Amino acid sequence: MDDVHKTNAIKELKKEFETLTEGIHNKDELERLKVKFLGRKGEIRSLFGKMKDVAIEQKKEFGAGINDLKGFVERRLQSLLDSFSVGSSEKDNKNYCDLTLPGINFSIGHQHPVTQVIDDLLEIFRSLNFDVLGGMEIEDTFHNFDALNIHKWHPSRNAQDTFYLDPEHILRTQTSAMQIRAMESGKLPLRIITMGRCYRRDASDATHYPVFHQIEGLVVDKNVNFCDLSGILTEMMTGVFGKRVEVRFQPSYFPFVEPGAETFISCPFCNQKGCSICQNTGVIELGGSGMVHPQVLRNVGIDPKVYRGFAFGWGIERIAMLKYQINDIRLFYENNINFLEQF
Ligand SMILES: [Zn+2]
Repeated sequence: MDDVHKTNAIKELKKEFETLTEGIHNKDELERLKVKFLGRKGEIRSLFGKMKDVAIEQKKEFGAGINDLKGFVERRLQSLLDSFSVGSSEKDNKNYCDLTLPGINFSIGHQHPVTQVIDDLLEIFRSLNFDVLGGMEIEDTFHNFDALNIHKWHPSRNAQDTFYLDPEHILRTQTSAMQIRAMESGKLPLRIITMGRCYRRDASDATHYPVFHQIEGLVVDKNVNFCDLSGILTEMMTGVFGKRVEVRFQPSYFPFVEPGAETFISCPFCNQKGCSICQNTGVIELGGSGMVHPQVLRNVGIDPKVYRGFAFGWGIERIAMLKYQINDIRLFYENNINFLEQF
């Protein structure tokens, strides 16, 4: 073998290798190329086989040329393999995408459970054609107590139960004050709800917190009765729990309603068979309701002989606790992200 032939053999093999690498698109093709060039019966091995035909004084140079080519082929194959593999450098991998890798989770904010219940209630009452009133958290004692027939001696007016700003202004203890403001507006008939924060000087425990939310509903018209109240409350709680519930009343005393009632619903979790949430009674107590007291109507200049009304005022946290089966009201206000992320 003369010098020209041996140099050409190495050059041509290198050229062939470079041409073939351009057509490689995956690991299988790469493996076939590797066998073709580096395998036991591959091209490079066969080039070494030609050493015996080379003159002694040129064997060294010819061998070095094949070794250079072998090194070149190995480096190129490794670089191609890296570009098909996970975990290689970003530069080699810029077009690589492994769809089996877990994605990146971006945590996004969402509504507080109490806000979710407020939104549910708003939707239910809008569908029932109620007007939604805002309200103020600082109230005067006339709207919060006097007009609601809560007498001067009533214990709820005590400074131990109510936050007083001055002798005539307080942080409202109930949303019922908005009933009075709505009736004072003189627009009749009335069909309103109002929701918002209320404040009481309660020591906090699993069911009490100094700040909480209430929903207040009021209907005043010429011909409304307890059946209408029952119907509205049934629609409301059926909407909240997403399944039919029944409403039950038990006579009770509230100064601003007559007759007044503690209101219960059939337990939506056990179909009245009894469970831990309803304490095996099959019913759950929700709050007060009743027909607006005639004196309350007179207090705002409405003739109780012409108009009647019904009202209810319930804690929204109480509804949220039932809906999401939470056993401690304080969890709503601790802002523990692990708790809040569950809703
Ligand atoms: Zn139950």
